Amino acid sequence: MLSVEEARDRILSYFDRLPAVETPLIDALGQVLAEELIAPFDIPPLTNSAMDGYAVVAADTIGASTTTPVELPVVGVIAAGQLPERPLAPGTVVRIMTGAPVPDGSDAVVPFEDTDELERKKSGSDGSMSAISINTAAEPGDNIRDAGEDITAGTVVFDEGEILGAAQIGVIASLGRATMQVIRRPVVAIVSTGNELLEPGQKHQPGKIYNSNAYSVAAMVARYGGVPRIMSIARDTVESLEAALEEALEGADLVVTSAGVSKGDYDVVKDVLSSKGEIALWSVRMRPAKPLAFGMLKRKDGTGVPLLGLPGNPVSAMVAFEQFGRPALRLMMGKVQAEKPSVEAVMDDAIHNYDGRRVYARVHAYRDASGVYHARLAGNQSSGVLSSMAQANGLAICPDDVAMIDVGEIARVEMLDWPDDIF
Ligand code: AMP
Ligand code: MG
Repeated sequence: MLSVEEARDRILSYFDRLPAVETPLIDALGQVLAEELIAPFDIPPLTNSAMDGYAVVAADTIGASTTTPVELPVVGVIAAGQLPERPLAPGTVVRIMTGAPVPDGSDAVVPFEDTDELERKKSGSDGSMSAISINTAAEPGDNIRDAGEDITAGTVVFDEGEILGAAQIGVIASLGRATMQVIRRPVVAIVSTGNELLEPGQKHQPGKIYNSNAYSVAAMVARYGGVPRIMSIARDTVESLEAALEEALEGADLVVTSAGVSKGDYDVVKDVLSSKGEIALWSVRMRPAKPLAFGMLKRKDGTGVPLLGLPGNPVSAMVAFEQFGRPALRLMMGKVQAEKPSVEAVMDDAIHNYDGRRVYARVHAYRDASGVYHARLAGNQSSGVLSSMAQANGLAICPDDVAMIDVGEIARVEMLDWPDDIF
């Protein structure tokens, strides 16, 4: 039986990076930039004020203080978005707002707080004062932002391969771009199989269960940057599954099935995979999620689409998707392979490994008062108990060749949902 790493390597060998598409800013979060971005102009475009205040010639304010204010005539006002009408003459000031371009001749801005602006306003003036008293000596450069101080025209702002977080998206917007080339998001068609399945929203029926796998898997696909497409449920016959897969193949970069991969009477995924494509592997040395199918399905036009056949047990489906689906999505999205963020935690409960498979135990990891990570088992570890997955924030790993991690021993815990994992 293959180890998790062997299975993952084999699976990833079937994937390639997807092509780039021109993408609107707001759809690009977490995706990979597929072009080099060069600044077409300076940002900020002009030297401008960092404060609301008065643009001055610094030399005019030498010696100014609250006890020895310097009174200067106000010759105009510049709001953000306006251009100065004329250079500032020595011995005069101009009212200026944050972000407004500083006129030639001015080399400092004195904020309102360092003038007698408030007193003058209180004493009845309407704000269009004809003179102002400066209470502090300005140094050249005070409260002035230089043109190009953020980004200089002609420089490479981002290289290809940059992962687009909120800040990158903001910077690209500041360059005036509404769209850019990013690696396309993989489309993942999700086909649940099982005669027992009802869709959420349908009336509850005895003997039936709701299809939860399609939704937990779809949520993980979306979480990792893909586009989930939930297909209609396939029943446990070859014909039904073939029909569902045929529909799923259209436009999908990956087909994920749930259930029907173990050794039961109605487990048809492997049969269909071998008749409609080729099987690359089934079963992995891990617990949960030992039964796992992977292979290539063939479209009518001869092109292939990878199929990841997840086990039906809800926890197994999620754990297997984390281990194999997530890296496949990363590869298609042009992201470097990165393990889930993990911590070393002292176990509060023992993890047993009965048969030489790698155990992924659902745990809740936490830090004690002295900052040491601990992990306790999150409820019933049966692979059918999905609520334990909801209680868990990580998967503690007991290696294949370790029979037990005892209470007080250290385990590596792969954290399930750390924010940095998007990238
Ligand atoms: P199977 O792989 O078909 O033997 O299914 C294993 C277990 O997973 C059975 O208890 C199924 O009822 C359950 N199961 C299969 N598909 C789903 C699904 N889509 N959502 C929730 N549970 C499922
Ligand atoms: Mg079944």
